[in-house]
Parts: sequence; C-alpha cells; structure tokens
Amino acid sequence: MYSDRVKRVQRLLRVEARYTGAIDGITGARTLSAVACVPEVRNRPDLIGVDRQLVAAGQAVLASLGHDPGPVDGHWGPQTDAAYLAWSGAGLPWRQADMASRFGPAGSARCTAGRVTVPWRMVLAWDTAEVITSFSCHELVAPSAQRAFDRIAAIYATSQIEDLGLHLFGGCFNHRTKRGGTSLSTHAYGIAIDFDPARNRLNWGKDRARLAHRDAVPFWDVWAAEGWTSLGRARDFDWMHVQAVGL
Ligand SMILES: [Zn+2]
Repeated sequence: MYSDRVKRVQRLLRVEARYTGAIDGITGARTLSAVACVPEVRNRPDLIGVDRQLVAAGQAVLASLGHDPGPVDGHWGPQTDAAYLAWSGAGLPWRQADMASRFGPAGSARCTAGRVTVPWRMVLAWDTAEVITSFSCHELVAPSAQRAFDRIAAIYATSQIEDLGLHLFGGCFNHRTKRGGTSLSTHAYGIAIDFDPARNRLNWGKDRARLAHRDAVPFWDVWAAEGWTSLGRARDFDWMHVQAVGL
C-alpha cells in the first residue's frame, strides 16, 4: 500500500474523530482500530486483507460525506480518487499566499488537469460564436467548481443565466501576472473563473458592474458556500472574477 494512500485514509478517518493519531502513512494499531469502527467494513469477508479494508473504510467515509467514491469495494480507482479530491477541495478556503505550496507551480500540468462541464450553453465572451461545453482548471478545484456550476444551473432558468451574463466565459487558466501588477494571477494556477468581462470591467464598482445586481446574489452565495472568493463582494472591483482562495 502506498503510504500516501494510507495518509489519505487517515485524513478521512479523522472525520468524526474515528482516528486521532498522526497522518504518517503507517497502518498501525490505531489506524486499524479506526478502520474497524467503520460499520460498512464490518462483516465483509469479501474485503480480503488490511489494505482493502483500509481503502473501503475511506470509501465509506467519503460516501457518508456526500461524495461518490463508487462501490465500497476496497479498490482505490479513479472514481474514489476524484471523490477524495472533491472532499479535500472542500477544505477551502485556502489563502492566496499559500497558492504555490497548495497548487504546485503556476502553469504546471496540474493547473489544467481538472475539467468542468458547463451545464448551460456557454460561449467565449470574446468570440460569442464559439460554444464551449467544458473548460479546464486546476485538478484540486474542479470538483468544487463543478458542484457550483451544477447548483447555479439548478437555481436559475436559462433566460436568467443569459440575462446575468453567466453564459459569457471570460477565462479560467491563463499563465499571467495580475493586471497592472507583477505577482502571479490566480488564473496562472487555474483556480479562478471570469464571467462576462465586458459588463464587469476590472475597475468598475457595484454602481456599474452587472454581477453586482441583486439577482446575482444567489450566484455568489453558491460560490461562497464552496469557499470561493468574489473580488467584487470582497473589494468592490473585478466583479467578473471568482477564485478558489481567499485574499
Ligand atoms: Zn479573473
């Protein structure tokens, strides 16, 4: 068993304090007794060996937290991996100062390894003839962004989405510095998304920005519930922008 995987399960077992030991990647007595406390793992003769029981315990915790790791079978496949990333992403908000340690180098492959499927008709803001059905972002924030998009689609009718300009994609990953600055933008990590830049210009405040209107409040509340930060709400500028880290 990879010790990284054991660490992941240990983190999951810390939920509800089943496990109170160190995150050390070692399957010791305390880890094993925490595994034994997970009801879904008891009376499961099909889970042969400690490693499978350990993974199954992690899967059961992920499922109990509302994620979908696939069947509780003790095999850590892509679905369990995605569920774990989604759960660990739920640990937002991260601080902007921690970006490099949390997300790895700006512009690395991980910054575009995540994918968000857009549940409404979306076009590029700068070329509205170009329809996009999905976009790439950092792998760690993709599950959170996907939940937000799905919730937004459930809240607003298509006509409201278009009225708000949420169908106008202003970009996500972009390896660049902040506008007017020298430090790296959150976009360089693939952890920020822009909507309708033409009607939410960088230096516009709430008196002019479209996404500062009252009907956008549920939109921002969805992102806030995921731990994302609106620069508009926080600083009253750049109302096009939402990021998966704090300020
Ligand atoms: Zn932005």
